[in-house]
Amino acid sequence: MQKNRTRHNQHISSPFETAGISCSICQSNNTASITTSMTYAMRSDGLLLNEPLAKVHCFNCGVLLGRNNQPEQAYLRSSGNSEFDLKRHQAVANGIANLLETSSNQSILSTLCKSDARVLEIGGANFATALALKKLKPHLQITSIEPSPEQVPETNDIDIIIDTFSTKHFKHKFDIIFSNNVIEHIADTRAFLKQCREMIEPSGCLIVCCPAHTPASNELLFSDHLYHFTPQSLALCCQAVGLELVAQQVAGWDTLTQVYLLRPTTGGQYQLEEPKPTQLFQVRRRLLAEWSKQDTLLKSQLDASRPLLLFGAGEFSQLIRTYLPKTYAKVSAITVDSVLGARQFDKPIIEFGQLRVTNQQILIGLNPSVRPAVEQKLSAAGFNQSQIIVPTV
Ligand SMILES: [Zn+2]
Repeated sequence: MQKNRTRHNQHISSPFETAGISCSICQSNNTASITTSMTYAMRSDGLLLNEPLAKVHCFNCGVLLGRNNQPEQAYLRSSGNSEFDLKRHQAVANGIANLLETSSNQSILSTLCKSDARVLEIGGANFATALALKKLKPHLQITSIEPSPEQVPETNDIDIIIDTFSTKHFKHKFDIIFSNNVIEHIADTRAFLKQCREMIEPSGCLIVCCPAHTPASNELLFSDHLYHFTPQSLALCCQAVGLELVAQQVAGWDTLTQVYLLRPTTGGQYQLEEPKPTQLFQVRRRLLAEWSKQDTLLKSQLDASRPLLLFGAGEFSQLIRTYLPKTYAKVSAITVDSVLGARQFDKPIIEFGQLRVTNQQILIGLNPSVRPAVEQKLSAAGFNQSQIIVPTV
């Protein structure tokens, strides 16, 4: 699965470097490492790291810490313009607009309605989300900043800035600042939020979207997700910089994304749900353990005498390449509906329409939510049940 991901990689280091064994968010020493027996780890752009994935769980605030040991290596991303990516950008824009429109907070509603409301997107990727939001809300003055764009559209509808947020000086403040899949990559969360706080008008708001803390998902498998936040851990960072939580919810566009609505502190009280860090630890550990066993599990389903295809050229197939190396070694080719926006692989990629179905086996390299539709599609194309292999992770 491909996503809009943006990294401010020049500024990523490891939270472990300064934290030691104590949690870098809440300073608790009540932490535990979750390591895997797998040989490699993967960065979110698919870069293979020659080390096992290792995360540190905090039993106090529930955050899960990751590390990026290759901060200097440039990110190699897809063009971000696959059909899936473009639909996703549109859905994120719809979700952001909807969140603001339906806010029960009067000052946020009036901010959105201001005739000259200024909006800043941090981490524009290919700027498709900002452009979609502009179409939905033409009165907004939208600026989008991105240090390493997937591509840059020719447009005057929004202001595009190719730069790093942490070092950028803006001439004015903004009414609304939003970011999607950015904060989990930034080593110094408080510094990032502080800078956002300084850039917001007193009546403005900040929308932060990041991988949800629950359910535990394959988002845990990226080494450079430096933080898997819980509401408690993010709220701690906010408090420290003069921001408060107004609302939080699962994103309308993706059940694995959590959306936090923040504003400059007014003294309001937001009731956080009960933290359950012990339960979180169990599910996180279980998910990583299931990935550790998956290569062996799939072996019993694969027929060595038949060619193996991998369906999907996105993030999930890259996870298979990294974490299921024995299975991936048997893959002769990758197939995908359209090569547009495909990620980097060292195997040939064939468009599905060009594929001749013989006796191959085909492994579905897509996230669980879209597998049933793909199974149907494969059946319709002539693959029988013994040919279709579905991962259990
Ligand atoms: Zn903590």
